Formats: sequence, structure tokens, C-alpha cells
Amino acid sequence: MVHWSPFIVSFKKRYPWIQLAGHAGNFQAGDYGKILKRYCECEQQCLELLNKDSLHPYVPSYFGVVEKDGESYNQMEDLLSEFESPSIMDCKMGIRTYLEEELVKAREKPKLRRDMYEKMIAVDPSAPTEEEHKQRAILKPRYMQWRETLSSTATLGFRIEGIKKADGTCNTNFKKTKHKEQVQHALEDFVNENQTILKSYVTRLKELRTALEHSEFFTSHEVVGSSLLFVHDKTGLAKVWMIDFGKTVPLPGTQTLNHRVPWVEGNREDGYLWGLDNLISIFTDVIQD
Ligand code: ATP
Ligand code: MG
Ligand code: MG
Repeated sequence: MVHWSPFIVSFKKRYPWIQLAGHAGNFQAGDYGKILKRYCECEQQCLELLNKDSLHPYVPSYFGVVEKDGESYNQMEDLLSEFESPSIMDCKMGIRTYLEEELVKAREKPKLRRDMYEKMIAVDPSAPTEEEHKQRAILKPRYMQWRETLSSTATLGFRIEGIKKADGTCNTNFKKTKHKEQVQHALEDFVNENQTILKSYVTRLKELRTALEHSEFFTSHEVVGSSLLFVHDKTGLAKVWMIDFGKTVPLPGTQTLNHRVPWVEGNREDGYLWGLDNLISIFTDVIQD
């Protein structure tokens, strides 16, 4: 059974390490300054390509596959290693967090999921239909679509997954953080209203946007479930990277995506840049000139 931990997971290392999202046990310490993430072929291919792409400064450096205790891992740069007691935020980008192929597959082989039903009623006991209540289970695409209407994914093109601050406070309960004002409030709290850090983040986000608009990798991939990892510390260092490429897949042939136009099933658009535009605008609104 996979152990799900909604809060911080850290493992012993020469410096503390924090995992804000995903399954506990998916990560292990690597060589100094590196971490190991449970092997995923899709992620390996993306990291290899991204390390050769113009997006390289915005993704963790990749160091190949490593075997440990009979398991395979992708070894990559630990983005926290240059920070001193960092504050961290994970924002999952895009207007949907499942691939089109997952939707197609789920329809072909409908599988009832009790775990997703449990998660749904934990947030909103009135969300399941009468039939779903009777089955005490729901279909995966239904859960995913429902979840995206609760958070800001569907309306802003990104959602906050978790925030861990230098003072030790941690919040991974942003499932219902949907409106612009709620997001603004969370961002202000994340940076303790520090204007210098806010400005550094906006600068970095704008540079990332330009890099994305010119990236060969980005135009030729559907980027789903990927996050921006925000990290800053009291020295004023503030950076943002793209992480999590387990659901970033190449498009067939010469197909490209615009990443801003609305998603219509079949066009594979992910709304990544639309979400980034919104994120930059919300960050900018928080800055008091
Ligand atoms: P999920 O798909 O549920 O989001 P996952 O198992 O694919 O989870 P990631 O999203 O890649 O895992 O990472 C989970 C968390 O681990 C991130 O929110 C971040 O806190 C931390 N993390 C991931 N990669 C790095 C990295 N290269 N450096 C530092 N921290 C990282
Ligand atoms: Mg993730
Ligand atoms: Mg993932």
C-alpha cells in the first residue's frame, strides 16, 4: 500500500530536505546536492531533453538513472541545496492535471476508485451523486474534473499545492483556494509581504515566460501536472524552477501547442502559459509600489 502523507516529508541528510507534494517514499537522498526521485521513463526523457534545451536554467540538472535497494531512481539536482532554511511553494501549472490520453483510457476501462471517493467526501460530502454514494466509489476522470473546479486550476490555470515557510509552518490544504483574492493572500503570507522577494520572483517568472516562448521542448510537448517550485530564504535569494515531468509528453509529428488558447478535447492544449500570465499578474498586484 502506498502511504499518503499530506504534510511535509523530510529525510535525513547533511542538510534538511522538504517534500511538499507527491507520495511519501518517492524521494531519497542522492549524492550531496542531488536527490533521487522514483524512476519514471517519461520524466527521464523530459529531463534529458530539457537539460539540452534553452529551458535548462529553469529545470533541475539531470544526472541519469541510479539503482538503490533494488529500485530505480532519476537522480537530479536538489534545488534547495543553495538555500539557508528555505521557504518553499509548489504551484501546479495548467488548466487540467490529467493527460488527454488518461481521459480516453479511463473511459475505455472505467475503474471505480474508493480512494478518490474518500478524498471527495473529505472535502465536500455533498459532491458525490446518489449513485456514487451507493457505490462508495467514483471514476478517476470524474474525480479529476471535480477537483479542478474546486481549486484555481480551471479558473486561473494554476493552483497552489503546498507552502512551507522558514518558520516551520506548512500548509498543503489549498484544495479550495480558488479565487484571485485567496491566492493573493496566500502569496503575501508566503513571502511575509517582503517586497524585494516579490520583485525577484516576478523578474524570474518573466524570464521563465520568455524562455518558454522560445523553447523547442515546450512548443512540442503537452505539459500536464508539472509544477513551479518557488524557493527563497532570508538572505533575499529567490528563485523559481519547473519540476515534475511525469505527465509531460511529446506531441505527435510536427504538432505544436500554443499553451494559451482554451482546451477543447482533442487539441491537447494545457493552458500552461495562460496560467503563468495569471500568476505573474497576481504576483504583480501584490507588489505595493
Ligand atoms: P505529484 O505528481 O503528486 O505532484 P511527484 O511524486 O511527481 O508528485 P514532485 O511533484 O516531482 O513529486 O515533487 C514533490 C515535491 O518534492 C515538490 O513539491 C518539492 O517540494 C520536492 N521536490 C521535487 N523535486 C525537487 C528538486 N529537484 N529539488 C528540491 N525539491 C524537489
Ligand atoms: Mg508534483
Ligand atoms: Mg508528478
